[in-house]
Amino acid sequence: SDSHFPVPVSPSQVDYTLHYPRYDGKKIAFADIGCGFGGLLISLATLFPDTLMVGMELRDKVTEYGKERILALRTGNPGQYENVSVVRTNSMKYIPNYFEKGQLTKMFFLFPDPHFKEKNHRRRVISPHLLDEYAYVLRVGGIIYTITDVEELGLWMKSCLENHPLFKPLTEDELQRDPVVKLLSTATEEGQKVERNGGQTFQAVYRRVELALPH
Ligand code: SAM
Repeated sequence: SDSHFPVPVSPSQVDYTLHYPRYDGKKIAFADIGCGFGGLLISLATLFPDTLMVGMELRDKVTEYGKERILALRTGNPGQYENVSVVRTNSMKYIPNYFEKGQLTKMFFLFPDPHFKEKNHRRRVISPHLLDEYAYVLRVGGIIYTITDVEELGLWMKSCLENHPLFKPLTEDELQRDPVVKLLSTATEEGQKVERNGGQTFQAVYRRVELALPH
C-alpha cells in the first residue's frame, strides 16, 4: 500500500542527488508514468543525454528491477545513463508532489492497465480529471504520448485528450518527424510483446497548448 514508500511533500523536497550522480539543479523534463521495466527510458537516456528523466512505477519489485538495470548500465557504460532514474510511487496520487507547474516537456503513458469495467474507469491513468494535472506539470508546447494494444482504451485515451481544452493532436507531419514516436511501440517491454504477437496498437500523441480565449 501507499504507506510503504515515502512521498515528498513538494517537488523541492525531493533529493535528486540520490537519483542523478551529477545532479546540478536542472529539472527533470521527461516522466514515464507506469514505466514498468524501464525500456523506454533506457532508449531515451542515450537519445537525450542532457535531459533528466524519471520513471514512476507502483510495483515495488518492478521498480527495484528498473533501478538495478540502470545501475548496471551505468557501470558498464561509464558516463552514460546518469540522466535516468525511477521512483516507486502512485502516479495517480502524487504527480504534483514531484513536479512543478510547467516543468515537464514530455510525459509517457505506454501500455497502461486497461481497467475494462465501467466502474473501474476511474482507475485509468488517463482521465479528464488527471489530464488537468498533467496539463499543469507539462509546459506549453510539451507533449503527452499514449499507446495501447487495447482498442477500447485507445479510444478512451484519445477522446479524453480530444475533449480537453489544453491539448491538441500532433499533425501527421509532426508525428513523422518526432524520433520518440517510433519508440512507443518498440522500446518498452510491453510494446515488444505486442509486436512479437503481431498485435495492433492505438496511439494518441497530443501537445499541451495554451487555452484559446474567445476573441
Ligand atoms: N509502460 C511499460 C511498458 O510499456 O512496458 C509497462 C506497462 S504495464 C502493462 C503497466 C504498468 O503501470 C505496470 O508496471 C503497473 O505496475 C504500473 N502502474 C499501474 N498503476 C500505476 C500507478 N497508479 N502509478 C504508477 N504505476 C502504475
